[in-house]
This record gives sequence, C-alpha cells and structure tokens, in this order.
Amino acid sequence: MASWTPGNRPKRSSFQFSFTICPRPYLALSSLNDGPGSYGATARNGARRRSRKFTVPLSPTGSILVNPLCGPHEIERVAAVQFWKMRTSLSIGRIAGIEIGLNWSLAIAFFLFTASLAGEVFPSDVPGYAQTAYIVAAIAAVLLFYASLLAHELGHAIVARRLGNRVDGITLWLFGGVARLSGDSVSDSAELRITLVGPAITIAVAIVFAVIAAVLATLNVFPLTVDLLGWLARINFILAAFNLIPAFPLDGGRVLRALLWRFTHDQLRATSIAAWLGRAFGVVLILGGLSMAFLQASLINGVWLGVLGWFLFSAAGSQELQTRLQRSLTGVTVRDVMVPDPVTAPDWITVDDFVARYATVHRATAYPIRDFNGQLSGLVTLHDVSAIAPPRRAGTQVRVIARSLTQVALARPDDALIDVLHQVEDPATAYVLVKDGDRLVGMVSPEDIGRALDLAGLRQPGPVTTGRSGTSPGTVGDV
Ligand SMILES: [Zn+2]
Repeated sequence: MASWTPGNRPKRSSFQFSFTICPRPYLALSSLNDGPGSYGATARNGARRRSRKFTVPLSPTGSILVNPLCGPHEIERVAAVQFWKMRTSLSIGRIAGIEIGLNWSLAIAFFLFTASLAGEVFPSDVPGYAQTAYIVAAIAAVLLFYASLLAHELGHAIVARRLGNRVDGITLWLFGGVARLSGDSVSDSAELRITLVGPAITIAVAIVFAVIAAVLATLNVFPLTVDLLGWLARINFILAAFNLIPAFPLDGGRVLRALLWRFTHDQLRATSIAAWLGRAFGVVLILGGLSMAFLQASLINGVWLGVLGWFLFSAAGSQELQTRLQRSLTGVTVRDVMVPDPVTAPDWITVDDFVARYATVHRATAYPIRDFNGQLSGLVTLHDVSAIAPPRRAGTQVRVIARSLTQVALARPDDALIDVLHQVEDPATAYVLVKDGDRLVGMVSPEDIGRALDLAGLRQPGPVTTGRSGTSPGTVGDV
C-alpha cells in the first residue's frame, strides 16, 4: 500500500480490514437509564417469562434477520432494535463534555489486535527485537488506533451537537465506535456534514501517521516505531475507505441517504434505498465470511467477517425501522396510549394478600404501589409475583418484590411516546408510570406500547418532509 513502511506486506489479513469499521449505527432508541442495577436485568427476566405473549428475540436473529420489515409484531422488531443498543460497560471520562465509554466487547478486540501485532505483524516486519518490545509496541499501536477511532466519533458527535442533536455519548466496542446521537431532527445537509467529518478526520489522522513514519524512515531511525506508525496509517486509511462504502448505516451509506433525501425530499424512501444496499452488503460479507471459513480454512477471519456482515445487515434493518417508526409515531403522546387512573395497591401487604385482593380481582398485569403515607413507592407486576414460591408469599411484603421508582420509567401525559421509547430498556417488558406533577394519572404497559406500535404501523406515513427547515418531525435519533 505504501512504500514508507519497511517490510510492509500489502495483504495483511481480512481480520484487520473487517475490524476497522465504524458502523456508527446511532442505534435506535438509545436508553436514558443505563444506571447500574437498573431496569435491565428485570426487563430481560420479564421478557423470558413473558415469552408466550411477546416472543422477544433474545438474539438479534429475531424478525429483523428473517424479514426486516414484515415481522409479526412491531414490538418485537423494536425489541430487536434495542438489542443493538451499545451499552457502556466502563465510562472513562468526558471529552468536550461528551461521555466516553467502553463496551466489554472491546476487550476481545483489544486482545486479538494486540496478539496479532505482537505475535505476527511486527516480528515479521522488523525482526530482531525482544518479545517485550513487540508487546509494548502492539499495545501502543492498538491504543493509538482506538484514539483515532475516538477522534472519528468525536468528529461526528461534536458536529452533531453543534447542529442541534443531543449527544448521549460515545462507546467504543468490538467493531469500532458508536456515537449515540438523538434529539432533534436534522436536515439532509446536516446529515451530510455530521457524517463526512468522521472519515475526513480518519484520513487526516492517517496522513499524519504516514508523514511521521516517512520522516523517521528517511532518517533511518526507530524501525519498530516506523512500522507501528505505518500500520496506524494503513489501518486508518482502510477505516476511512471501509466507512465510505455506500452501505447504510456505514458513513458512506449515510452520505448516500442524505443525497437521496435531498433528491427525493423523502427521508423514509431515501432510508429504505440506503438500507437495502446496507443489507445487501451485509449479505456479501456474510457469504464472504462463510467462504473464508470453509473454503480457505481461515476460521477466525471468516467468523469475524460473517459476524460483521450480520451486524450490518441487522443494523440497516433497525435503522430503517427506526426512521419509519419515528415517522409514524409523530404526534402520538403518552396520554394517547396510557391506561388512566390505574389501580394501586398498598406496599405493606403480603404477596398472598395482594394476589387475593388485587391480582385476581382486577385485570391489570402490573400495579403501582404506595406506602403508608400514600406516596407512590414502586410497581409490582404479576411476573414479579409469580417469581415468588407459593410458600413464601404469606411472609413476603409486596414492597420487597416490587420494582422501585428508579427502576421504572416515568413520563408525563403530554410526553411524546417516541421519547418514552427512548427511555425504556426494552419496550416489550417496560412499564411506564405517568405522573402529572406529583399525581399518578396513568400507566403504560408493554401491551399498550405494543398496541400503539401496531397502530402506528397501520397508519399512513406522515407527510413528506424535505427536512430543509431542520424541523421535520419523525427524524429523531437516527442521525
Ligand atoms: Zn463514522
């Protein structure tokens, strides 16, 4: 690829190639309640227990993979979208006010990258160093590479913020980086600007590394450092090139979508076309991965490529779904879907009492609970109750098994439903308590959310918006 790196081998491995993507999926409906011990575990358990009613995909192979737009139930597809939400496992601080986090999957990537560089790439490029030197160089290279990725994502995030998007943070993970943006809609030109800045930064970073490597190589000093910098330059060029492939939700696909959006004045149609290309590219990668694994006996590279293709395929479908949902949920408020004045139960009664006086008397699947002073103290669901063994029910108070208020999403009646979906971990298991000031005025159950989503799916898409004004509805969150 370049002559400034001694021992540069043009074909490194597809592992590095496939590794260095930044899908920047802006994964849909990013959560606002990521706190430890929050709703997540409960929600997932609930999902399993409720599986007869909602076949929530526990893997992303749900309806998105089978048929991205024709699943049996909207809520399943939204749940599948949620699956791809990139969770921050470890927050490492803030840059320019933007929270930077690491996902646990990054550890796998870090290990594979470091092992590949220290065990194979550097020793064969510049032999004669101690193993420790290769390991130190490999760790430095991988850290610098992640710093480059971070710069790319920061570019997206800072420009997005300047253009009025809310930035929830940046997470580095297995396949690169994700800038989690949501908030107000943007226009096609804003999307273009937010998108192009990422690859531009990556190319600039690559050039900087290449120039330093070239200077050091000319001076004939620090051959291992030269190789390291050369690798960084190459991988950043590859990163930029890969991201510019017009396969949504890669950056190139976003550019294509923005151009189609400008041309057709229809964001949804533009998204559909770009997402179709994204899925096609995902299939190509999956087939490439399979052939690599089985025909070339390169199992790790093949699996890697296949998983990457699968991710892109699913992410493209998710993004399209998100755009469509946000269009069709425009104008739907919490008040439209909530059950008003839900039956509440005292939190000090026993589970047995609760079953006798509430669960078997009323029709709800969950009950807000109040304390002795009449204050709302949490929410208990029938699933929480069924998890308690019958012999223990007489001696267990309801408040012990209930979800606390911090584990339940709260909303106001006039909040947009789409904003509430942003808040919940998994709409297939989420209960939302609706308060007007201090007063509980309603509750939204997963059934209500599912019904609203199904109805939204039946609605005609909203009016065509060019988005030029920057105020077009229904574009929240995906750019
Ligand atoms: Zn990007």
